[in-house]
Amino acid sequence: MALVNKIIPFSCIDGPGNRTAIFFQGCNLKCTYCHNPETINKCLNCGKCVSTCPVKALSIKDNKVLWDDKKCVECDNCIKACNHLSTPKTKDYSVDDLFEEIKKIRPFIQGITVSGGECTLNADFLVDLFTKVKEELNLTCFVDTNGTIDLSKREDLVNVTDKFMLDVKCIDNEEHLKITGLNNHTILKNLKYLLEKDKLYEVRTVVAPNLNNEHTIKEVAKIIDNKCKYKLNAYRKYGVREEGLKLHGEVGPSEEEMKIYLEYTKTK
Ligand code: SF4
Ligand code: SF4
Repeated sequence: MALVNKIIPFSCIDGPGNRTAIFFQGCNLKCTYCHNPETINKCLNCGKCVSTCPVKALSIKDNKVLWDDKKCVECDNCIKACNHLSTPKTKDYSVDDLFEEIKKIRPFIQGITVSGGECTLNADFLVDLFTKVKEELNLTCFVDTNGTIDLSKREDLVNVTDKFMLDVKCIDNEEHLKITGLNNHTILKNLKYLLEKDKLYEVRTVVAPNLNNEHTIKEVAKIIDNKCKYKLNAYRKYGVREEGLKLHGEVGPSEEEMKIYLEYTKTK
């Protein structure tokens, strides 16, 4: 079983073509600029959010918080009330149940992309899901990852995945530790490993104030050496929690600034 935060049936920003994007709940990083911090932890069933729901879509049974998606009006009061970086709006899926959801949409999509949270924390589940989806639905399977799981030790997952999308947040380890809570050693190892295996669709870096963006972009571009796409995302304050706002502020880089950063991605 795996805990899923959200399924977007049709997405054109999560890899090539029209894809179903599946967001898993739970992440092992705590990025200061995260836009969806409610995906970081799994719910503790403390019940604090239940009374904030205006339509009684939340209830408690046997010490477990239950969410009725049919009643929910997506006001996000529950997420705002949670101080555990979590949400009661998740669902546990078996591989077969998730496969059935994908099968319903099959005629309209080119593939699926799993994201998060950090989807590779469910690596065994992904191997089973991708194997079934490829064999029975003939769809491509992409993984959008923070790169913290050593993929050279998960060849089963790498082999069954068509392409990966990898976030590289900071090249400097101290800075990486400061903004994510974890070192970047495995991420950089995965970057080189996936390039060697020709398994990278795209690498991404968030350009945020008060980080050494120029250094990160130039060094990451050198490693990529035009072997895959390198995408820069401008920091925006929406969804970012207080700690992140203190560090990065309210205003992200302008279009003009992003053009300058884009130049740093050019190695030739
Ligand atoms: S988002 Fe849904 S479950 Fe949460 S408080 Fe609003 S209506 Fe209730
Ligand atoms: S979502 Fe947060 S507030 Fe609600 S029950 Fe879970 S941990 Fe408690």
